[in-house]
Amino acid sequence: MKSYRKELWFNIPTRRGFVNITPEVERCLRESGISEGLILVNAMHITASVFINDDESGLHQDYDDWLEQLAPHEPVSRYRHNRTGEDNGDAHLKRQIMGREVVVAATNGKLDFGPWERIFYGEFDGRRKKRVLVKIIGE
Ligand code: ZN
Repeated sequence: MKSYRKELWFNIPTRRGFVNITPEVERCLRESGISEGLILVNAMHITASVFINDDESGLHQDYDDWLEQLAPHEPVSRYRHNRTGEDNGDAHLKRQIMGREVVVAATNGKLDFGPWERIFYGEFDGRRKKRVLVKIIGE
């Protein structure tokens, strides 16, 4: 069995944002030389997510609106978490609902997706460098 590990770095210039990272994950799969196996992609930070859905800007705005309704950034005083002096209590909650990681099958050297599936990095407390782990095992 082969094993491959890589960290992808992001520095989203805004507090929140979504990035299609499918091309980077495909590049990792090519680099790994693995054609049959499993690909784990996870955010390494507790205020960011990795998830799979459609690459559609209206949907991304819907996510952002929905997450802001569930856990508005302001007022920051509404979160007990922020009593530590941080202002990212909302980002922890947004990350929880959007998820930490995805697992995708690799078949015949390709991501074995359904028709519209793409992998996204979801940032909820950006403007700093953050990492995503890609781990691939198989043969
Ligand atoms: Zn925090």
